[in-house]
Amino acid sequence: MDQTQILALIGAAIIGIVATILILRRQRQQEEEAEATRDNPFAVSTEGMKRCPNCGFGNLVTDATCSSCGRSLPG
Ligand SMILES: [Zn+2]
Repeated sequence: MDQTQILALIGAAIIGIVATILILRRQRQQEEEAEATRDNPFAVSTEGMKRCPNCGFGNLVTDATCSSCGRSLPG
C-alpha cells in the first residue's frame, strides 16, 4: 500500500465521520422539534425566546413572525 492509497483511506474515513456527525445532529434536532411540538402545540416562551411551531427556530418574544420561515407566531 503506497502513500496515495493511505491518504485516500484517511480521506474516506474523515468523510464518513463527518457524514455520521451531521446525520446524528439532524436526527437529534428533529427529535427536539417533535418533542416541542408534542408537549405544546404553541410557541414556548423561555428565556426571552419564542420557538417557532413550524420550524423550531428560536425567535424573540417580541417577534410576530418567525425569522427563519416567516410563519406567524402565536402569543
Ligand atoms: Zn419558523
